[in-house]
Amino acid sequence: MVYTMDAQLAIATRPLIAVLGEDFAVPMPDGGLTRYINLDNAATTAPSVSVAKAVSDLAQVYGSVQRGSGLKSVISTRLYEQALANLKKFVGATSADLVVLAINTTTAINRLAANYKFAPGDIVLISEAEHSSNDLPWRRYATVVPVRSTGDGQLDLADLEGSLKSYGRNVRMVALTGASNVSGRVPPLREAAALAHRYGAEVFVDCAQLIAHRRVDMRGGPGSEHFDYVAFSGHKMYAPYGGGVLIGRSWPFEQSLPDLPGGGTVDMITRDRVIWAGLPSKLVPGTPNMVGLVAMAIAAQELSALDPILTRNHERMLVEHGREVLESIDGVRLYAHKNDSHEDQLPVFPFTVRGFHHSLVAAVLGHEYGIAVRAGHLCQYEFMRRELDISPAEQSRQETLVQAHDKSSLYGMIRASCGLCNTCDDLSALGSAVRHLLKRGPQLSYEQESSSGQFAAVGQDEHLQMLIPLSLRSLLQAASE
Ligand code: PMP
Repeated sequence: MVYTMDAQLAIATRPLIAVLGEDFAVPMPDGGLTRYINLDNAATTAPSVSVAKAVSDLAQVYGSVQRGSGLKSVISTRLYEQALANLKKFVGATSADLVVLAINTTTAINRLAANYKFAPGDIVLISEAEHSSNDLPWRRYATVVPVRSTGDGQLDLADLEGSLKSYGRNVRMVALTGASNVSGRVPPLREAAALAHRYGAEVFVDCAQLIAHRRVDMRGGPGSEHFDYVAFSGHKMYAPYGGGVLIGRSWPFEQSLPDLPGGGTVDMITRDRVIWAGLPSKLVPGTPNMVGLVAMAIAAQELSALDPILTRNHERMLVEHGREVLESIDGVRLYAHKNDSHEDQLPVFPFTVRGFHHSLVAAVLGHEYGIAVRAGHLCQYEFMRRELDISPAEQSRQETLVQAHDKSSLYGMIRASCGLCNTCDDLSALGSAVRHLLKRGPQLSYEQESSSGQFAAVGQDEHLQMLIPLSLRSLLQAASE
C-alpha cells in the first residue's frame, strides 16, 4: 500500500496503538493539570488496551500450568502453550526452534551465553552500539571484541568482515542489537548476518528495541541472512507483565544440564541419582510466567495486525518531526541522527540542553510538564564517551568518583523515545517544554542524590501521593508504618 504525504501527516497525528493511562493528568506548579506524555517507551511501554483486557480476562480462568487437572488449569495450559507457539511464529522461527523462558531480554541473553559452550579463546563480536545487556553476559564466557562504527556511527561492515577474517574460527557468535536504544538506528542486520555465517559464526540479535517497531523475521532473507537467535521482553512491547524470551536453535541446550535446576526440570530423583527432563522442560524451572507470556502473545498479535508500511510511515514522520523540533532549539544538541531518509531509524532522540544537567532536565520535564523521558548513560558508556567527547583524564576522574558511589557529575544525555502510541503533538510538547526551561529555568526546587545522580523535586510528595490510585495507596501507607 502506498500512502500520499497528506495521509502520512494524518497518520502521525493519531496513535497506532491505544495504551492504558492515556487520560492520566498531572498537576503543574501553577496549580493546573496537564496531560501525561510518555516519551520513555524505549525503557518500558504502557500496556496496550487489548493486552490489559486480555490479562484481566485471563485472571478469571487462571490456574496452575501443566500441573493441575482442574478446568482452569487445562485452560491456562492451553493458552500458555499456544502463546509460546505464537511467539515463535511472530518472529518467523521454525518448529525446530526452541523458546527459552526468561524474565526479560537480559536474562534471555544470559541463558544463551551460559549454555553456549564456549571454549578458551572463543570470541563474540558485538557492535559499538550495544546495550550493556548484550555485552556483559558474553564477557563472562568468551572474549568480547567490538566491531568499529563508521564515521557517522553506523556498524562498519568492512570492519566486521576484517574481524571475522582475522579471528577466523574463533569467532563463534556475532551479537548485535536490532536497534540502538540510544539513537534508534537500525544496523544493516541482514548484511551482517550473511557475513557472520560466511565465516562460520552464528548470529544473535537483541530485539529488545526492534520488536515493537519492525517485523522480525529470523529465518527470512535469502541464503545465509537469517538470525540464529533473538531475544525480547514483554515490557517493551505493550505487555509489561514480566515476560521475556530467547528464541532460536536448540543445539546449545541439548546436551546441557539445566542451568536453573529445580522442580519441573527433572523426571525422577533418588538419593543418588537425578534423571533430568528433556527439552524444553529441563529449561523451565518451577512454575512458568503464564500471564507474562500470554500477554506477550496478545501484544504480538496486535503488532502483527498493523500494516508495516503504516507503521514505518508513522515512525518516519515522528523521526522527522522530532529532529525538526529539537534541532530548531538554540541550546539543544541532538546526537547520532543522520539525516538520511534511506537509513532505518526508530523515533528515539538523545539530546543535551546547554547549561543544565541531563538528569535535572528529565526531572523538570516530569514534574513541571508531565513529560516522561529518561536521562543518564542509558547503559551505553562507549556511546556516551564518544559522542560527548569525554577525555581520558575526565574518564579516570569519573571512575574514581563512581567507585566512591558519586555519580553526580557522570556524563549522560536525555533520551526521548516514542512508541506507536505517540504522535507528533507529543514531540511538539517536548519542544515547547525545553524552550520554556531554557527561558525561565526550573520553577520548582530540586535536589540531586549523589549516589544515583538523579534529581528529585523538593516538597512534591503530596502531589505524587494523590496521583496513585486509591486501591494502591494502602500499600505505601503500610510501607511507611
Ligand atoms: N537490549 C537493549 C537494546 C535494550 O534497550 C534493553 C533495555 N533498555 C535491554 C537489552 C535489556 O532489556 P531488559 O531490561 O528487558 O532486560
